[in-house]
Amino acid sequence: MTRREVELLAIGAGPSNLGLAVALEELAPELAENSLIIERNPAIDWQHGMLLPWAKSQVSFLKDLVTLRNPRSRFSFLSHLHATGRLDDFINMNSFLPYRIEISEYLDWVARSLSRVTLELGRDCVAITGEQVDGSLARWLATLADGTVIAARYLVIGTGRDPYVPPVLASLPAARVIHSTQYRPRVAGLSREMPYRVALLGGSQSAAEVFRALRHDLPNSDVAWLTRSVSLTADQSSKFSNEFYFPSYVDEFFASAPAARERILADLYKTNYSCVTPAMLEQLYTDLYLDRLGGRSARRLITMVDITDARESGDELELEITDRNTGRTTELRRDLVFLGTGFSWQAPRLVRELADAIGIDKVAVTRRYQLLINRPASAACYLQGINESTHGIGDSLFSVLAHRAQDITLDILAHRGPGGATAVPAAAAEGNR
Ligand SMILES: Cc1cc2nc3c(=O)[nH]c(=O)nc-3n(C[C@H](O)[C@H](O)[C@H](O)COP(=O)(O)OP(=O)(O)OC[C@H]3O[C@@H](n4cnc5c(N)ncnc54)[C@H](O)[C@@H]3O)c2cc1C
Repeated sequence: MTRREVELLAIGAGPSNLGLAVALEELAPELAENSLIIERNPAIDWQHGMLLPWAKSQVSFLKDLVTLRNPRSRFSFLSHLHATGRLDDFINMNSFLPYRIEISEYLDWVARSLSRVTLELGRDCVAITGEQVDGSLARWLATLADGTVIAARYLVIGTGRDPYVPPVLASLPAARVIHSTQYRPRVAGLSREMPYRVALLGGSQSAAEVFRALRHDLPNSDVAWLTRSVSLTADQSSKFSNEFYFPSYVDEFFASAPAARERILADLYKTNYSCVTPAMLEQLYTDLYLDRLGGRSARRLITMVDITDARESGDELELEITDRNTGRTTELRRDLVFLGTGFSWQAPRLVRELADAIGIDKVAVTRRYQLLINRPASAACYLQGINESTHGIGDSLFSVLAHRAQDITLDILAHRGPGGATAVPAAAAEGNR
């Protein structure tokens, strides 16, 4: 078993931890020199499964990894366009919303432009635990798939959320169930010409994108898109609701009482979840209209239904569909199920297992995203992108990540103290602020 030691280990090289890398290089160069980011994929590929050629980012390019925190940074999206000779082209499109592919290329460019932080690809972290020294939690031990153990005093987990698979589908063979996060690689393994019978589940933007993509990727298939709601709905964002995505709003949200936080999140739910962009709704409706005009019925939307049972039977799947209007059940026989069902609200598996390993009942963080640990510790762990319930509706998005990276960096600097890596036990770490 190989054991390595770094001061800071960040797991996952998505936007959150790449934003952290930029903050470390700009605000804490000495710490950056002893920081390592590991990523399980072999390349930096943002939302790889849904990197569809026509899909656009849903937030302004100005909400990149750094601009809101430091508009003069060399790591901005504009700086990337300039460095890669695409600035004229982008400006000429006259849009604040880049294609998803452009964001992915930007992230890859940032990763390649780091000069102090080390980034290693193809490194899958499979478990994390804590190491005690003299009764105090002194280090995190991250075990990788190849058996390597990386020890670090500071740990930042930015692995995104776990895909949500409805429990009723749990017994179906994995080979026949395709979550949107796996869409591109999995659909590439299917025969384009085959007339598959497909069920698609969900009422979100991801479900809508899969429905649109299937028209091209599996043109001969029969696609039944099943959703629990009465209709697809447009996202309810406006310039007014967008203010709740400002980084400056995080303090106010964090200071709110738990009941108020819940109410605010419920009110803002349809600005980000279970909704579809108006442009996509227009596109889908037009496609279905033209289908009807041409007498084609192989693609359809079925609303107000639940899947109440699912099993594999011979060479097909049997889905029991319950009509939420009448309670009547019918059976739908399919070859494949695609899921646009989003992500689990639970903490990711890696975080839950870490919490179990160090005896934490409830995963919670301080205002500066430091995991609350109820025992003596000179190590600290930070959680990125999974703190919506305490830090507000923008927590999983680009909107706040530049400032969050700064908050975490400054918290670590305060925690290590002037003596650097050897100082200050974490029992004195700032609590909830
Ligand atoms: C299809 C889609 C489109 C979206 N579009 C937008 C948008 O336009 N604007 C916006 O603001 N937000 C958007 N989002 C929300 C999205 O969550 C954030 O934009 C952003 O990707 C969050 O970054 P992250 O780094 O926290 O997580 P992720 O982007 O999920 O990155 C996590 C990284 O960690 C890696 N990883 C996971 N587990 C391990 C492990 N055990 N070991 C090593 N590496 C690991 C993953 O491979 C991944 O690279 C979108 C989400 C989806 C699903």
